Amino acid sequence: MSIKVYNTMSKQKEEFVPIEPGKVRMYVCGPTVYNFIHIGNARPMIVFDTVRRYMEHKGYDVNYVSNFTDVDDKIIKKAVEEGVDASVISTRYIEECKKDMASLNVKPATTHPLATQEIDGMLEMIQGLIDKGYAYVAKDGTVYFRTRSFRGYGKLSHKNLDDLRGGNRSLLVSGEDQKEDPLDFVLWKPKKDGEPYWESPWCDGRPGWHIECSVMSRKYLGEQIDIHAGGEDLVFPHHENEIAQSEAANGKDFSRYWLHNAFLNIDNRKMSKSAGNFFTVRDILEKYDAQVLRFFMLSAHYRSPLNFSSELMEAAKNGYERIVTCVDNLKFLLSNASDGEMTDTEQKLLEEAKTFEAKFDEAMDDDFNTADALAAIFELVKFVNTNAVAESSKKFLQALKDEIICLSDICGLLVEKQDEILDSDIEALIAERQEARKNKNFARADEIRDELAARNIVLEDTREGVKWKRV
Ligand code: AMP
Ligand code: ZN
Repeated sequence: MSIKVYNTMSKQKEEFVPIEPGKVRMYVCGPTVYNFIHIGNARPMIVFDTVRRYMEHKGYDVNYVSNFTDVDDKIIKKAVEEGVDASVISTRYIEECKKDMASLNVKPATTHPLATQEIDGMLEMIQGLIDKGYAYVAKDGTVYFRTRSFRGYGKLSHKNLDDLRGGNRSLLVSGEDQKEDPLDFVLWKPKKDGEPYWESPWCDGRPGWHIECSVMSRKYLGEQIDIHAGGEDLVFPHHENEIAQSEAANGKDFSRYWLHNAFLNIDNRKMSKSAGNFFTVRDILEKYDAQVLRFFMLSAHYRSPLNFSSELMEAAKNGYERIVTCVDNLKFLLSNASDGEMTDTEQKLLEEAKTFEAKFDEAMDDDFNTADALAAIFELVKFVNTNAVAESSKKFLQALKDEIICLSDICGLLVEKQDEILDSDIEALIAERQEARKNKNFARADEIRDELAARNIVLEDTREGVKWKRV
């Protein structure tokens, strides 16, 4: 069966047909890095990582690009507050974000481009847009995209240009009176004192936000891509503007399918940093295993709003543990099981077990319905709990275990625990580090800190001594 995906552009589920057979070119808008990511930001990371994993399971070779926006007003504001360079802030939070992604078992993208490393490409695309009459330079050197010159504007968000014009007038802010039309948006803007800037033919300055994704997507995936994704707040204006820039510059349709996740809410309001109603991924990981958070995110379809609550997190914890316990039981049975061929009954049971995989695939083929896919895993778990017994053959038990692990892995759920470092080993290493520091052997002390960090153990030197936690 083929995969059906809901395309925001057509407002319909469509059969997924990639541009190049067997390959998927996918771009997911990434976070602006000025703080730890919150669990709302983690939703697109987890759901689109699961889309990627399912595509890979189906045999596609997925080229997955996700950017970090590392120059932005919020980053600059934070840098001013801390009295450091903006790059200090962005570098720090990119690293922290990558740690959170690793905890949540989100695969690293094929490429994670950074806006600040792609300025040349942006200058080139902007110049191309000016040359074609799609953009113009205002008196102070700001470059604007001439929105009305792009005929398809509004096709993704299904907005009418004239309605927008009325709405946008009230949004006029100072400095925008130099626009030819209130609908026009910024491609390049002049520097302000103390801000990072780059030279350009129009003025020393920095790029607008939208241009980075058009440029990075073209550079790493080509002019036409299969899937462009992000949270639903990006449909307008960000993705609408990306379409205008890319299609005007390249003269080709940009992305075949546009996928958008609904919001993660709290008290039925969008979780966001600006509203102050958020939990960082770190906050949640103090209380729950990262896998539980991942399970929680997948327990709803990605296009349905999801309300964060401790009840739902507890339900996710129970659900996840049910799968883990089933695999642990299988491991226990396996350690005592006898070699030899499967019996006829076992062969038949295994065929029955495969029907749950078919159910799982059916759910995922239907616009990545992870809620139903998890339900299929539960059915399999129930089946295994009934049919895997002390007398079962090793081959049978192993096949059941492989089946559960395969389906869980598509969801990015690590039901087989990695070889975790024991608390006592951590304490011993910390003691060794303290001793090394006492002896001024800082190289060894740092080595131990790094070794622990690589295993997701973070140390904190406090007045009461060294504290540690798993991240
Ligand atoms: P930002 O750093 O705000 O640009 O967000 C990075 C990604 O997280 C984008 O795809 C946003 O749409 C998404 N996002 C932000 N807040 C939420 C939320 N509460 N629920 C779901 N997705 C979100
Ligand atoms: Zn983007």
